[in-house]
Amino acid sequence: MTEAGESSDPTAQARDLPLDSHLHTNLSPDSRVPIDAYAAQALERGIAEICITDHVDFEPGTPAYDFVPFDVRERTVREAAEQWAPQGVAIRFGAEITYDSRHEAAIRDHLRGHAYDFVIGSVHVYEDSPFHASRVAAWVAGRPLAEIVAPYFGEVLGAIRSGLFDTIGHLDFVKRYLMPHVTPADLAAAPELYEPLLEALVATGTALEVNTSGLRQAPRETYPSESVVRRFGVLGGTGLSAGSDAHDERAFASGLEAGYRVALAAGARDLAFRRGGERVVVALPARFRQPARPNEATVPSL
Ligand SMILES: [Zn+2]
Ligand SMILES: [Zn+2]
Repeated sequence: MTEAGESSDPTAQARDLPLDSHLHTNLSPDSRVPIDAYAAQALERGIAEICITDHVDFEPGTPAYDFVPFDVRERTVREAAEQWAPQGVAIRFGAEITYDSRHEAAIRDHLRGHAYDFVIGSVHVYEDSPFHASRVAAWVAGRPLAEIVAPYFGEVLGAIRSGLFDTIGHLDFVKRYLMPHVTPADLAAAPELYEPLLEALVATGTALEVNTSGLRQAPRETYPSESVVRRFGVLGGTGLSAGSDAHDERAFASGLEAGYRVALAAGARDLAFRRGGERVVVALPARFRQPARPNEATVPSL
């Protein structure tokens, strides 16, 4: 296993970073990792703070619907936080809520009555989605790109405009499902498709997540890509989060060094985060404060 800093492998597990803000434990239906396994790695790798963001879904019949009750999730994470705090690992209680416009009222009700430290709003691809493997080829055939991505990006826009979330998870996760019919290069050539999302993020003060799971999945780039994050910075966006979206132990902090560099490319000097009701900024480590190249502008322009 190679380490960040010693390897050009962008998916390497990172060391010495202040935060991994997107992690799934065995309180999610698609992960078997006990929370202590992440905490132990955080201690060993010098990741000062981790946020547990197990899935919370509102579509009946989906795996994360009512998977683990709120009070059990909260108690489990808070107890781990107490246990690990003296050793120097801060553990926050978050959630990754699947945004679905049909369930916006239920999500709003849930968040009114349940206090999280940090809430990610994400759009996922379900069985009935046009992007599901069984029908994506037919969906893409003969359609212009704007129409292809519209069902996904439309829901993402709804998630942003709802104002319910601290950050938007994997903004263009759909690019994983579109491959090979639509490639990351095709999406990169259509930045106008991202513009309404980025403008809405800035207008609502919602953070943008740099999700590094895309580095280890088929797109081989973050969700969203560096150019999209740069554009967010140009539009005045300042709130950024960065998470590995790990569902297994080896993915803990995976690609996070690269993810922080993507955030840096957008002109970020810190990450936005929330601890309980309090909004905080997490400074990027000193090694991110030097431009990667001598002539690189610290504030990018397009
Ligand atoms: Zn997700
Ligand atoms: Zn996730």
